[in-house]
Parts: sequence; structure tokens; C-alpha cells
Amino acid sequence: MDYPELLEEIFHVARAFVGKGKVADYIPALARVPAEKFGIAISLLDGREYVMGDADESFSIQSVSKVFSLALALHHLGDQVWHRVGIEPSGNPFNSLVQLEYENGIPRNPFINAGALVVTDWLLGSSADPTTELLDWLRAATGNPHIGIDREVADSEWEHRHRNAALTHFMASCGNIRSNVDRVLRTYFEHCAIAMSCRDLARAGLVLAGHGKSPRLEERFLTRSQAKEINALMLTCGTYDAAGDFAFRVGLPGKSGVGGGILAVIPNLMSIAVWSPALDSHGNSMAGVEALERFTTLTGISVF
Ligand code: GLN
Repeated sequence: MDYPELLEEIFHVARAFVGKGKVADYIPALARVPAEKFGIAISLLDGREYVMGDADESFSIQSVSKVFSLALALHHLGDQVWHRVGIEPSGNPFNSLVQLEYENGIPRNPFINAGALVVTDWLLGSSADPTTELLDWLRAATGNPHIGIDREVADSEWEHRHRNAALTHFMASCGNIRSNVDRVLRTYFEHCAIAMSCRDLARAGLVLAGHGKSPRLEERFLTRSQAKEINALMLTCGTYDAAGDFAFRVGLPGKSGVGGGILAVIPNLMSIAVWSPALDSHGNSMAGVEALERFTTLTGISVF
């Protein structure tokens, strides 16, 4: 496979979609990011790495962090995580409130906001400092000691927290949040505000391509089954109410964020990260989805 040539072609095709859609504007710190950015990085389990465009520029990973928070929760707590959060697609927007009341405060899955808030609550009960622990793992798994929190984004999320606060308070009223609600929200926002590049994300994603073992780390982080579970949830729930469309077009486990990043996994082979801030109506990067679709179509590699 001539990966550099492949990335050139993808870059060329995806460029037509760069800037189409809308940059997230629910907080000013994200609304300012230029829509024309586009980066792609692929990281193979054998150590090879190929990048193109703005692949070394850090951006707010937003909901892509839900993958890493869940991984840390499973690492600490194992299967009991599933007692308080489901494993089914929601078919609703990522910040929807309606389903939660019908379903007694148990979120459909860990990749919608409500689910990630429960995962964060689990983390607060199992780790003295989940944010530092998450950052330490990401730094070690990527070899980049500079990965950190964008404080401006985290503060801005806190200032505009009404919807996420409503979700958390409602779940607390159902007994599905155990820590202090504000602490859960602050920690959740810190995770959303982690700043990483496509290169970093692709490296971090290798833990899922490698069945729970990161190539840069001695110690296995997840069991093989846990890595399978996360990949399966990324495929079925990782792009919210567009998960069916994403699976149909791309055919890979993928997790998006409203910062415009998407992390995709090809088990046994590689992890791919794309970034372009303009989003479709579901909150997924338009050029990013296009690039991933092109990747699997041109290579013929997907999980199917
Ligand atoms: N910080 C965003 C929120 O909580 C994350 C959502 C996303 O990336 N889909 O609304």
C-alpha cells in the first residue's frame, strides 16, 4: 500500500468538503477555530506513521475524549460500568434530554453526553484525580508530553453548562450520579477540552487497534474483550444519530467530536485520525467523514 499517495488523493477529495458545514458555536472558544483546517494522520501498529495537512496542530478533541474516559473506567472498574450505562444506539442527538426520562436516568450508551457524564462519575469514584490520570496515559501512549487541557475551552463549557447540568442533575435525581454534580461537570468539561493533534489521536487510538495493548506501553491497558466492546460501541454509537450512516459509508469503528475530530480504528492494523472543524447537522466533521469514506473505499479495508 502506498500510503503517502493514498493520503494525497484523500486530501485532494476531502478538500472540496473543507469549510462546508458549520463550525461549533455553542462556546466562543470553538467558534473561533478556522473552518478551512484539515488534517489526517494514520498510525500503524508496526510503527509506521503518515500525516498530511494540519495533522500536527492541536484541537479540542471534545467527544472523542469519551473513548478514552470509557477506556480508563473499564480499566479500573471492569464490567460493573455497564450497570449504570447502556450499550444501545440512542438514535437521538448527543445532548438530548428526552430519552433519559423515559429510561429512568440510565443513558443509552457511554458516547452520548449523559453516558459520558455517568462514566465521569464512575471515574471520580475510582480515581483520586481522573483528569491527571487520563492525561498521563495519553502522554505515555502518544509519546507527547505536551498534551493538556485547553483551559479557555473548559471554562467556556462550564459557563455554558446548562444542558449538560440539566442531564447530570436529572440523573442525580434518579440516583445515577453519586459524586457532586458540579465536580462531575467540571471533570467532564476538562476531558472534552483536552487538546491533541491528529498525530496524537492516531497514536492513542492504537490501543484499540491493538486489542487493548498500546505499542508504546509495556503494560496492557484493556483486556481484549474490553477493546472489542469499545470498538463495537464506536461503530454503533460513536457518531450519535448518524452512526448508521457512518457505518454504511465508512465501515469502521469511529468516534467524533464537535471540535471536528474523528478517530477511526482498523483492528489489527492501524488507527486513523482526521480533523476539520466544519460539522454536519449531527455534529460530525463533514470533510472528516468524507476522508474516512474515501480511505476505506480506495483501500478496500474496513471491518466488513
Ligand atoms: N463539550 C460538548 C458537549 O458537552 C461535547 C459534545 C460533542 O463533542 N459531541 O456538549
